[in-house]
Amino acid sequence: MTDFDYDLFVIGAGSGGVRASRIAASHGARVAVAEEYRVGGTCVIRGCVPKKLLVYASHFAHSLHDAPTFGWTLEGTRFDWARLRDFVAGDVDRLERAYTSTLDSNRVEHFHERAVVAGPNTVRLASGREISAKVILIAVGAWPVLPEIDGVEHCITSNEVFQLPELPRRVVIQGAGYIALEFAGVFNALGSQVTVVNRSDKILRGYDHDLTDRLLPIMQARGIEFAFNHPIEDVSKQTDGSLLVRTAGGLDLAADAVLVATGRKPKTQGLGLDSVGIELGSNGEIPVDDHNRTSCPSIYAVGDVTDRVQLTPVAIREGHAFADTVFGNAPRTVAYDHIPSAVFTQPPIASVGLTEVQARTVHGHVQVFKSDFRPMQNMFSDQAERGYYKLVVDPASDRVLGVHMLGPDAPEILQAVAIAVKAGLTKAQFDETVALHPSMAEELVLMR
Ligand code: NDP
Repeated sequence: MTDFDYDLFVIGAGSGGVRASRIAASHGARVAVAEEYRVGGTCVIRGCVPKKLLVYASHFAHSLHDAPTFGWTLEGTRFDWARLRDFVAGDVDRLERAYTSTLDSNRVEHFHERAVVAGPNTVRLASGREISAKVILIAVGAWPVLPEIDGVEHCITSNEVFQLPELPRRVVIQGAGYIALEFAGVFNALGSQVTVVNRSDKILRGYDHDLTDRLLPIMQARGIEFAFNHPIEDVSKQTDGSLLVRTAGGLDLAADAVLVATGRKPKTQGLGLDSVGIELGSNGEIPVDDHNRTSCPSIYAVGDVTDRVQLTPVAIREGHAFADTVFGNAPRTVAYDHIPSAVFTQPPIASVGLTEVQARTVHGHVQVFKSDFRPMQNMFSDQAERGYYKLVVDPASDRVLGVHMLGPDAPEILQAVAIAVKAGLTKAQFDETVALHPSMAEELVLMR
């Protein structure tokens, strides 16, 4: 018996919070979770899941385009945004129910209201009720950063993009990171005229340059316009209801929707952290140690709110490790090396391990193996898009330090090859593996 209402109170029922709740409960803890919006968090409700469904929907545009050369006669095809939007929303509802039933079946109590920290062992609900807990876990995630531009109220973020009443004819997207380029691909394929405007001349900062240098012209060839070194200055509403975007570089762009995707910031504002002496980092993040513990010993944090790696599977791992450590008597930490990642552009890119530049910084000399090929599925296409795979190898040990891929299904292939890179396999071991023919993935074992 403890003097607290709960052993664990989790603030935020997203990927990290739900995993931590159910694992802690399975270890015998009495757990409650508060969520101010919808159970499932960013990934399920307004991120990875609905985005990926839109990406799938937009792939049909490419398949339909290529279908006649494969012998199909197509008549009367048309796209219905409202139907897709409502189908996606229905699937999000289904997943929210699944997450809620996971909490129920693990006897995790849930409160559908905002909760803030009111003391080292106390949270306060929006209703004013105070609840005590031996341990508090903060898993409130991150929120889109709104750039400082006049008329930003006319813009949407990835939070609103899934509810658009109709498919915008002209879309301007600010930013050239994950969200900007994924939605550029979706809207372009679905038939919108897309312009990406970015403050710098870089896309997807952090990815290997060989991938981004090849992705950019492919996206341009598909019809997406890019305006680099053009931060947006203001967005104004016109009398006909459309929007006018003016950039600092003097460009005027007419649009029906302006999507801003300029990063996400930990959602710590007003969370009461100052009441327990937790000082935030420069991006508003909660600093934690290797065991996800904050400077207040009874309070922990996992996921995007800690601003370590803003990826769902990482938040899930952190939540799980937290619960095992604090309630399962099995302390463990999360390894942040070799985290695979992908951008669901069209075509997608995927990466694991060190980029060439990072590997040179760490190892000095590195070997690089490249395969620049035309995927078989593109053979009949009038868009002669090429795939590109790259292996970065440490010549001293022959270990594969990084794999970087651009091309159809790259994320699916990369997840498997990430196991080999994480396991420290050598280039010779890649080469010993017999190719699976005909496939794109066989390029990985054929680079000489
Ligand atoms: P990113 O950090 O990926 O990209 C931000 C973009 O906005 C960059 O192009 C950056 O330009 C630009 N930018 C940043 N600040 C400003 C500013 N003040 N004014 C103008 N432009 C600015 O952020 P996203 O919002 O696209 O995504 C947020 C995070 O969500 C990602 O980092 C990722 O972790 C996660 N995510 C992951 C996905 C996946 O795994 N597939 C999909 C979607 C999101 P510059 O390059 O010049 O700095």
